[in-house]
Amino acid sequence: MDSVTDTGCGIETLNRRVRQELQWLEFPAKSWVPERKHPDGKVYDVIVIGGGMAGLTASGTLKRYGVLNHVVYDMAPRDREGPWATYARMDTLRSPKTLTGPCLGIPVLTFRAWYEHRFGTQAWEALGLIPRMLWMEYLVWFRDVLELPVENDVRVQKIDTADQGLLRLSILHNGKTEEVLTRKVVLATGRDGLGGAYMPDVIRTLPKRLRAHSADIIDFEVLRGKRIVVIGAGASAMDNAATALEQGAARVDILIRRKDIPRVNKFTGIGSQGVVQGFVNLPDEWKWRFLDATLSAQTPPPRPSVLRVSQHPNAFFHLDCQIEEITAEGEGLELTTSRGVLETDFIIAATGFNVDLSKRPELQVFSDRIRFWKDRFVPAPDNCRNGVINSELANSPDLGSAFEFQPKVDVICPDLRNIHCFCFPATLSHGKVSGDIPAISDGADRLVKGIVSHFFTEDCDIHFRNLEQFETPELLGDEWHDTPVS
Ligand SMILES: Cc1cc2nc3c(=O)[nH]c(=O)nc-3n(C[C@H](O)[C@H](O)[C@H](O)COP(=O)(O)OP(=O)(O)OC[C@H]3O[C@@H](n4cnc5c(N)ncnc54)[C@H](O)[C@@H]3O)c2cc1C
Repeated sequence: MDSVTDTGCGIETLNRRVRQELQWLEFPAKSWVPERKHPDGKVYDVIVIGGGMAGLTASGTLKRYGVLNHVVYDMAPRDREGPWATYARMDTLRSPKTLTGPCLGIPVLTFRAWYEHRFGTQAWEALGLIPRMLWMEYLVWFRDVLELPVENDVRVQKIDTADQGLLRLSILHNGKTEEVLTRKVVLATGRDGLGGAYMPDVIRTLPKRLRAHSADIIDFEVLRGKRIVVIGAGASAMDNAATALEQGAARVDILIRRKDIPRVNKFTGIGSQGVVQGFVNLPDEWKWRFLDATLSAQTPPPRPSVLRVSQHPNAFFHLDCQIEEITAEGEGLELTTSRGVLETDFIIAATGFNVDLSKRPELQVFSDRIRFWKDRFVPAPDNCRNGVINSELANSPDLGSAFEFQPKVDVICPDLRNIHCFCFPATLSHGKVSGDIPAISDGADRLVKGIVSHFFTEDCDIHFRNLEQFETPELLGDEWHDTPVS
């Protein structure tokens, strides 16, 4: 087999190697889920919504476990799934280059294998952090080499119940609405997967020409020569501020509510296989305690992102600075803050995402039946930093062991068992295994093992019938003679 050279030996070599290793692993596993028939047409075993990193990893894992009758829908065009080629504005990823990410535990599927084949081992040694668009290229390769069944430009508009315990999805493709049936749905819909971009009302209610969220597509060319205010202290705040400055903004003021920028990345700092595998089994109080402490400390922006901003003389950081009022001032805005008055032409809210099912049309049928942590859990007072219940945690879905939704107390809704929430809001129930790069393969493995187990137990009568009907002999009866004992 070709080995990786100093200067790289090409993706075709890697592809050959991947194919060989997958064959050794019997990947994909043989298809085993009994086919479902329905008068309305084909029934998928699983439909994955979202072809970003999580959806691709879930799809690869479904193939690994022989659930081949599945499809992945993404509303984005091919190569534009997720944030990387759309609204992400950092130069490089935050994560170290050595993380194994979506590789399904298979070495030749790692980013490193891909990079070394393409650019060589010397380039790998010299690489600092992963350039953002290179990560996207890697994900595209991952999808292609595993021949994952992704269909782009397909928006799932509605998940509904159907007879025979199935789910009926309404999808929009090429301007046409169609219906498809499936036994299970995996929501791999990203950081905003159960809601959307969050903006404080004082900003959200401004005219759109004067404000954007950091996850919006922003035309920075139009903002050249303008005064920009960025709200927030996270990575996205820095990336948007830097982009505005690099594109010629007259000045950028970064308004930060905290007295200091968070400096320590707590949960990542204690990352280990113990956390990845063990968090899910913690008692609820402990899950809450870990994440309450993490969220109160907040995640710092990466140092290179902050330096990318602060190197500009027209970048200004304002700490301990709260917006009190915003009024129109000529073509722009006047901001009254706790530290004085500021005039600006445009505001970018880097204020994150929240869970809000009213923003997810695909979940409308089930939205008032899905159970959240706040519906059944009240944290002990010493688990509430600053004396308040953390609303991000309270609004987390309360998931079962295979990431499946569960009904609110006193509500009966068996279909929820077939909708699996494999996106960022699953963190309080499962730990950090369904959003970020480091443990995405572990999360997908847990998800798919759960799905496989549901399928097998649900169909146990069919499998038993197969067992009874299985008559292929291994022995022909001519291998021995029966001998009398005496
Ligand atoms: C700016 C930014 C930088 C990040 N950097 C890092 C990093 O350095 N390291 C790290 O570990 N993590 C990072 N993350 C976190 C995480 O890795 C990313 O958010 C990653 O994209 C998560 O993958 P995902 O598949 O869960 O979601 P996404 O990549 O967002 O994919 C979700 C997909 O679902 C599709 N979709 C949603 N709804 C529907 C629907 N109804 N119908 C059809 N399709 C739908 C979307 O089009 C999208 O393509 C970053 C996140 C952001 C936002």
